[in-house]
Amino acid sequence: MSVDVLPAFEIMASEEKRGVVVRSHRLRTLGLALGAIVVGAVLYRHDAPTQMWVLLTLHALVWPHVVWLTLRRSVEPIAEDKRCFLGDAAMGGVWIALMQFNLLPSVLLATMFAITLIAIDGTRFLARGMVVMALCCCVAAVANGFAFAPNTGMPEILASLPLLTGFPVTLGFITHRISRTGQGQNQQLRRLGSIDALSGLMNRRHWEDAVNAALTRHCCSGAVMLLIDIDRFKRINDEFGHTVGDEVIRQVGAIIRGGLRDGDLAGRYGGDEFGVVLCDVDLPAAAKVAERIRADAASLLIDHAPNLRCTLSIGLADNPPHILKVRDWVEQADAALYRAKLAGRNRFMIAA
Ligand code: GH3
Ligand code: MG
Repeated sequence: MSVDVLPAFEIMASEEKRGVVVRSHRLRTLGLALGAIVVGAVLYRHDAPTQMWVLLTLHALVWPHVVWLTLRRSVEPIAEDKRCFLGDAAMGGVWIALMQFNLLPSVLLATMFAITLIAIDGTRFLARGMVVMALCCCVAAVANGFAFAPNTGMPEILASLPLLTGFPVTLGFITHRISRTGQGQNQQLRRLGSIDALSGLMNRRHWEDAVNAALTRHCCSGAVMLLIDIDRFKRINDEFGHTVGDEVIRQVGAIIRGGLRDGDLAGRYGGDEFGVVLCDVDLPAAAKVAERIRADAASLLIDHAPNLRCTLSIGLADNPPHILKVRDWVEQADAALYRAKLAGRNRFMIAA
């Protein structure tokens, strides 16, 4: 279980950025290549000049890779990618004008750009993209002498089919993968948000929720709670400093985690206090676990503090049938813990 919560967030963010660059490169390469077939068919019909063919080749075959190389080096690839998609939409407007508004190819190009813009950043981005596309279309139409030939012939219809079918299917596939990745990341975020970064155990709220849920499901009939408190922890902080104190919490967390079985629930209950629910055990078996945790902590050696001795007091309480809330159960374990402290610390006691 990872305790490095912040680095985990950073890794997720950088993976997200890398994923965006790869996905948008694939989408742009495919979309522009299929779009070029449509535009090429219309340009061929109009016997277009060489400059238009050069422009089409650069846009469809060179531009996607230029964008990819740029985004790979960018510190803000997502924002830059969006700007590039606006550039693509602008060129879409230019191609519609240069195709002399040939009906099916023009509508198809505008539609494919529209669904791409929506998929990237929703309706406002679509509106921006459409405005850019319309403006560029007007400018190109003026430059092209308002040429207007909306009739679509069979060659252009056939040339439209790959874009009409291949692009939406690919976009749907990519969107599905993104949503699955998003679900996985949400799960990971929920998990990271429920873990105490120092001890690597559940944080208090999540632990209480987990124990309450187990109580509700009546899974705790053969369970024992351990409430574990570091002895004289304030003194450890005072004598060795808070960094060493933090290291002690980290190590005690590791000792507790080391002895857990599937289904056991362990959390950091407070500053130097930990709660553990051991499932499917009786009191003698739980006492053995408590003793092992106590002994492991007593033999801890902390770097930079060789004289430090860490002892634990532990209260044990099994789960009588009337206990339905974690707080009531904790109260019982806490009373046993209190007796362990009174009896001289560095020991466990079982609730009466
Ligand atoms: P006792 O044997 O009775 O438990 O004595 P104690 O000193 O452990 O008692 P107390 O519960 O009053 O002290 C707990 C201390 O733990 C107080 C607080 O400053 C310290 N503490 C709480 N959280 C942290 C933390 O995250 N890191 C460090 N280094 N210290 C913490
Ligand atoms: Mg303490």
